[in-house]
Amino acid sequence: MTRILVVEDEPDIALGLRANLEIEGFEVDVAVEGALAIGLASEHRPDLIVLDLMLPDMSGFDVLARVRERDASVPVLILSARAEELDKVRGFRIGADDYVTKPFGVLELLLRVKALLRRSRGGTEVAPHAEQIGETAVDVGRRILVRRGVEIPVSPRAFDLLLALVAKRDQVLTRHELLREVWGYSSDVTTRTVDAHVAELRRKIEEIPSEPRYLLTVWKRGYRLRAEPPG
Ligand code: CA
Repeated sequence: MTRILVVEDEPDIALGLRANLEIEGFEVDVAVEGALAIGLASEHRPDLIVLDLMLPDMSGFDVLARVRERDASVPVLILSARAEELDKVRGFRIGADDYVTKPFGVLELLLRVKALLRRSRGGTEVAPHAEQIGETAVDVGRRILVRRGVEIPVSPRAFDLLLALVAKRDQVLTRHELLREVWGYSSDVTTRTVDAHVAELRRKIEEIPSEPRYLLTVWKRGYRLRAEPPG
């Protein structure tokens, strides 16, 4: 069983992460303080740590430094409201493996967790492209698409939308579900915004955007990303 330590003091986020990770089959410990996290990390030897930076008793950076003293290899994904480049650089310098800024889509976080676990299991063999849609590779780390060796930039929202669809491949997602996942609950954008970003994605992943083979419209319901095109 893969064990994940979630270090997060905000109850809503901690509980939401626990629930979503457990649905994915992970065993989850939650620590609401840095000192607890350091203890759990050495006792339970988690396979991955999700680490908030702003904790009540110490900073996530200090937790990370203490964890790294004993375990140089456990993947650590930093979760923080601080989006400043300085923090990212500092996090990576002291041994974080990935960085997600709040507010985040839980599906993106799950994909990043899985990508980190794959990477850590493969040793130094880094899978450059975690997800494939036909001839298009979705590079989650760099947030771009790669098609026949050509890098294709994608707008940030369209990329989040694609991640939401990838995470629920072959399931129908309504426009409202996609809005909630990608734009958040409080957003005042309309479902037409979803359609516009779907159009952008189709231009980038489909051979003929007007006749999509992967990103399908499900009439009156929403969208579905097909795992494999027919024949
Ligand atoms: Ca916090």
